[in-house]
Amino acid sequence: MAQLTIPANIFAVTFRYRATLISHVPNSVKSLFPRLTNYAPLSTFEAQAGAGLTSESFDVEANIRDGDSRAGLDERGTQEVLDIMRREGVNFDQARLIRQNRIFAANGIGPNVDVQLDRTQAPISSKSCFPTEIIDKIAAFVVGSGRKFSDIANFSLVCYRFRQLAFRHYFVILRAEKKSQWYRKSHIPGVSLWVRKIECNSSALYVCTTALQQFINLRTAVISFHTEGRNTQYTGARLILKNIPPTVTRLNLEYLPLVNPDLLRLICDALPDLRFLHVSCSERLLAGLECCWDCYDDCGSGTLHSPIPRYYCNVYNFTASIGPSLAPLKKLEELVLGVYLSDEKIFYDHIDHSEDPDAPFPFGPDECSLCAELHTDVVRETEMLASAEIAQYFPNLKTVSWSSFFTGNQPGDDPANQRTTMWIKRERDTLAVKRAQWVLDKV
Ligand SMILES: [Zn+2]
Ligand SMILES: [Zn+2]
Repeated sequence: MAQLTIPANIFAVTFRYRATLISHVPNSVKSLFPRLTNYAPLSTFEAQAGAGLTSESFDVEANIRDGDSRAGLDERGTQEVLDIMRREGVNFDQARLIRQNRIFAANGIGPNVDVQLDRTQAPISSKSCFPTEIIDKIAAFVVGSGRKFSDIANFSLVCYRFRQLAFRHYFVILRAEKKSQWYRKSHIPGVSLWVRKIECNSSALYVCTTALQQFINLRTAVISFHTEGRNTQYTGARLILKNIPPTVTRLNLEYLPLVNPDLLRLICDALPDLRFLHVSCSERLLAGLECCWDCYDDCGSGTLHSPIPRYYCNVYNFTASIGPSLAPLKKLEELVLGVYLSDEKIFYDHIDHSEDPDAPFPFGPDECSLCAELHTDVVRETEMLASAEIAQYFPNLKTVSWSSFFTGNQPGDDPANQRTTMWIKRERDTLAVKRAQWVLDKV
């Protein structure tokens, strides 16, 4: 008798689209294969709830109510749970735990998971499995940092507790570049308790700035102002800072068109308990390096990157304006002021003597031997002086950093980010700064 064979690829396609194909199979054929009649894909929460695959501890209906658009248990998982329920005569919670334990066992986890199969006993869901602390560590590992939501989707579907732990780790950081992202993420039920850090564009927050107030556990805010101009920066910053929770102790405002006393006073009024403050313009100049000399020039013109001498006649004048504006921040430990203390003219002189039609890629004064030879010593000294001056306004300040074209090779120098950092030491009435950590004297 000739044997009927189905090529593997046709079988695969048939299996993949079986739910669709089965609806076209005549009832007379289906009756020959009872399993086909019973088959229905249960890949959504609605379908799973309809099949009784829900319980208090795995509340699929709550997902539906909350408008959770993700798929429920995957199709294979659903079928396995149904099979276990039928074969073992157990309820949904018990079947789910049995399946989960098999998965753990297959991955070398166990066997100290307590599985109660006696149906006369209390429901299995009330029994302890792993201690929450261990599951919490697993959730932290699974979620990791910077992963996509799809990476945690399956983990979050194991049970209510897993889902809460997965979400808590996943939403520790909330990122939003666009208004739609901020609006959607800030309205997820429970998210306001999980978020510890936001990384957002200022313009994304404008769609619902008041939503910021609900993040009662927020500690760190990183906000990019790259879409702002000098005329819109103040209004935008005021709107954001008016709504930012006072629990924030680390604030990073970057890509600013300018750093001025008005902005700094807004920060002090909103967040008097800040320990770390980063306000910076220099990212705009670094972004300008990615295109051509004209773009580099334009980025320089649109940014108040080197405020001396156009806005402040010298470094004393500069620190005497900036210091008192930030002085209410008595708990401040780290201060990053992302402006260059070199003369503004250095930037434009550099473009004049370096721009070359045969070398289309721009480079800054930091990579120019002529600029280095002419300005390094003076600028490095100015940065030390400014650090010592500004440190007098903050009793707890440990480090102060500046943007700099003239970094060296000391521990506080960061040429890649054009930044230099100084550490502050206080002894009785004296104050000293250097570009390396101070070694404490042994007692
Ligand atoms: Zn360009
Ligand atoms: Zn140069």
